[in-house]
Amino acid sequence: MKSHHQVLIVGGGNAGISVAARLLRKNAKLDIAIVEPSEKHYYQPGWTLVGGGAFDVNKTVRNEADCIPPEARWIRDGAEKIEPENNLLITKSGQRITYDFMVVCCGIQLDWHLIKGLPETLGKNGVCSNYLFDIAPYTYECIRSFTSGKAVFTQPSSVIKCGAAPQKIMYLAADNFRKRGILEKSEISFYTGKPGLLRVKEINAALLKIAQRYGLNLIFQSSLIEVRGGAKEAVIEVAKGEGKEQVTVQFDMLHVAPPMSAPDFIKDSPLAVKDDPLGWVDVDGETMQHRQYKNVFSLGDVANLGDTKTGAAVRIQAPILVKNLLDAMEKKAPEEASKYNGYTACPVTTGYGKLLLAEFDHDSKLMPTLPILDPTKEHYSLWLLIRYGMPWLYWNKILKGKA
Ligand SMILES: Cc1cc2nc3c(=O)[nH]c(=O)nc-3n(C[C@H](O)[C@H](O)[C@H](O)COP(=O)(O)OP(=O)(O)OC[C@H]3O[C@@H](n4cnc5c(N)ncnc54)[C@H](O)[C@@H]3O)c2cc1C
Repeated sequence: MKSHHQVLIVGGGNAGISVAARLLRKNAKLDIAIVEPSEKHYYQPGWTLVGGGAFDVNKTVRNEADCIPPEARWIRDGAEKIEPENNLLITKSGQRITYDFMVVCCGIQLDWHLIKGLPETLGKNGVCSNYLFDIAPYTYECIRSFTSGKAVFTQPSSVIKCGAAPQKIMYLAADNFRKRGILEKSEISFYTGKPGLLRVKEINAALLKIAQRYGLNLIFQSSLIEVRGGAKEAVIEVAKGEGKEQVTVQFDMLHVAPPMSAPDFIKDSPLAVKDDPLGWVDVDGETMQHRQYKNVFSLGDVANLGDTKTGAAVRIQAPILVKNLLDAMEKKAPEEASKYNGYTACPVTTGYGKLLLAEFDHDSKLMPTLPILDPTKEHYSLWLLIRYGMPWLYWNKILKGKA
């Protein structure tokens, strides 16, 4: 089997498949290989609605074989080591693959192990998370079977993918309790490592009002450090004066978003940002070209592009990266017009049939695609778009490099 490729893509998720498809639409003769260990491809944004009981989990998964563009070679293996000075990638099974150009988009690592007791109890004892395909349906189990008591939701202080996902499921749970007439008997708390609900001030103000509508307790600058599943206790570090204190919180259901970082093999590679323990790929924030290895590009959750880690950001990054990569192949410098501005979007489900769409840039400035829809207000039409339009767009257009 051939062991050298013109373009080697590491990761066949949202970003990897979009980039491969776009490159091949520009030039069908390109020799592209995708290193991807998973037999399954996931539409992860659907997991919020799965956890809220409003979407079928089976509609969020397809065979990876059906997503890889037919003209690309699929290497069904995980990357284990990258030696960019030798243009070499070594896979878990020991294959040695060289490349002219490499695109790194192997996603984000979920660091469950950083919270004591969490891996053992996840998926039982009322401990759930929308961050896993297998566990997201259990979130709805927890919401559905909740009758009264304490529902706790957590978000780490580190950058995570879809930074609004931990609170979206809380609003859905609150709305579910309201519809079933048990909201008054419920104490819903959000422990977040962040100083607010979202870094865009207009959206933050709107979300604070929504949280008030449901009577939610918001505890900022706090981090989950331990879960005792059997005892249904969460140990949380909360801010106190200048310092911190640990509190033990009882729960009837606990939804966790774990800390996240770049996959370990990226952290350990020369591609990572030096001295950053989170280990993101060190790219130029505008061109997405590696700062040191000019034949390496990166996008999506693994790239050092700030807290823009969403599929919506990938949709904007992919065509820019493809243009810059094709230019680099022709030894041309990236054009001024082909620069990423840090756009990202968080569709915040604030209840069943209610959605607030926050679109913004690196500087937390609002960038609404549809200015006629006030981004600080909830819209039913946007709920319909996310519930029905986006999954279709993802499978049929985004992964085909057409949107
Ligand atoms: C609960 C939840 C809700 C979300 N909601 C939204 C939303 O509403 N809107 C939105 O825009 N985004 C949302 N997202 C975020 C979105 O799904 C991600 O930002 C997007 O998938 C990033 O694309 P990616 O290609 O970088 O990573 P991924 O799509 O995760 O793909 C990474 C790929 O790399 C592969 N890989 C891993 N390790 C290796 C290795 N060693 N070698 C080779 N390949 C490897 C993986 O198997 C995977 O296929 C949500 C995510 C979650 C979990």
